[in-house]
Amino acid sequence: MTVTFKELDLIEPIQKALKELGYVTPTPIQAKSIPDLLLGKDLIGIAQTGTGKTAAFALPILQRMPEKFPRRIRALILAPTRELAAQIGTNFAEYGKFLKFKQTVIFGGVGQRPQVDALFKGVDIVIATPGRLLDLMNQKKVSLKEVEFFVLDEADRMLDMGFIHDIKKIIAKLPERRQSFFFSATMSPQVSNLAQGLLKDPVQVEIAPQATTVERIEQHMFFVDSKSKEKLLLQLLLKKHLTRVLIFTRTKHKANHVAEYLSDNRIHAVAIHGNKSQGARTKALEDFKSGRAKVLVATDIAARGIDVNDISHVINFELPNEPESYVHRIGRTARAGTDGTAYSFCAADERNYLHAIEKLIRMEIDVMDHNFHSESAKNATGQDAKPPPRGRGRTGARRPARSSSGGFGGRSSSGRSSGGDSHRSGGSRPSSNPHRSGANTRSSGSKPNSNPHRSGGSSSGSKPSTNPHRSSSSGSKPSKSGGNKSGFRKK
Ligand code: AMP
Repeated sequence: MTVTFKELDLIEPIQKALKELGYVTPTPIQAKSIPDLLLGKDLIGIAQTGTGKTAAFALPILQRMPEKFPRRIRALILAPTRELAAQIGTNFAEYGKFLKFKQTVIFGGVGQRPQVDALFKGVDIVIATPGRLLDLMNQKKVSLKEVEFFVLDEADRMLDMGFIHDIKKIIAKLPERRQSFFFSATMSPQVSNLAQGLLKDPVQVEIAPQATTVERIEQHMFFVDSKSKEKLLLQLLLKKHLTRVLIFTRTKHKANHVAEYLSDNRIHAVAIHGNKSQGARTKALEDFKSGRAKVLVATDIAARGIDVNDISHVINFELPNEPESYVHRIGRTARAGTDGTAYSFCAADERNYLHAIEKLIRMEIDVMDHNFHSESAKNATGQDAKPPPRGRGRTGARRPARSSSGGFGGRSSSGRSSGGDSHRSGGSRPSSNPHRSGANTRSSGSKPNSNPHRSGGSSSGSKPSTNPHRSSSSGSKPSKSGGNKSGFRKK
């Protein structure tokens, strides 16, 4: 049975803020956790960005935190990236619009002075990345003695980014008596250890296992030699229905390179990654959000926490080496209940990555026909399907392409049988992540609704899509066979 926010026992100022934001129906993680969290229970939420997890912890904190003077930090939220921290800060400001709390966001890469000034004036809520917070703690500019609410967001990503020691030092300074909220998209033994040390008798909520989240996204695979990827990208970006495009690369260098190539070819593109200054990252994100830049090129870590609606297409210029990242990446095009389209480029030496992705999502991605199609990429097996050893770079397919299609739509082979063969040979690659199978296990059995916003209907309905191709599939599940929607023909 669907509940509405009205039934959730939230105080008037919060109800009013939610109404202004157009939220009517709680997402599953909100509906399942908010009643217990309002009673003061700890939470472990296995959920990724896009499920509405921020409101799931922010609303109970705002409701349960009494106003106290002088203002001291009573809610601390740790996030792995500056962008996610900033996004959570925006969300808190929106949800707490009719309350009187003061908050600040703390992250590295910018001068610490304004952050210290804000702390000095007195704040109730701090949203921080671990490194800078620890810095300020060491300088005795922050005290966590009065923290009553503690949130650790995207714990798995925190561990991936090497924050474990910083986090432990921060946690050691928190009072024992507190309400803790713990979120992670995946659950490894390390993540679970961290949670156990942090939580007391927590409510556990598990939402939209990764492998099922992708089902509402139309996905297409383009086999292409590395040297032809840029030309293929340009050709795709000239199509009108690609209105707002997020492109992923594996490295910062490649992100810069792709953005420059596009800009040289009169497509306004900006890049965002860890080597950019905070100012440059903010500017790039603003340009993309406002539509000044049609394309944002990002690395995986930089893209975490980017909350941009109406991304019409995600393009994987390079496939990720961690299959979970594929799910995170393409999920960017299906925010807040919309559907989306994801294109992926696969060169010969990425063939094994593709195999791992298809294993995780438990489906084969449709292969598209296009000018730069590479049979050698499609059929690569053994050594050819593996990435080159570190340091050798990726300058192209390791073997010259045997054949390329003459033009769009010129091929009619079904394509999947040979793909199937190479899948088998790729299957020997051991999974680097022991928990990958966990995601699959969770998705088996009763399949939860992969779209947190869909159940309500009204919440997604309130957010119009700018992508004409999305609306066509509303109501029914989008076809994964592609057809004309992508402008390409399925192989
Ligand atoms: P999150 O997973 O917290 O990053 O939220 C993803 C997006 O969903 C954000 O743009 C939120 O503003 C939006 N959102 C969260 N909860 C709801 C809701 N109940 N109804 C509509 N939109 C929501």
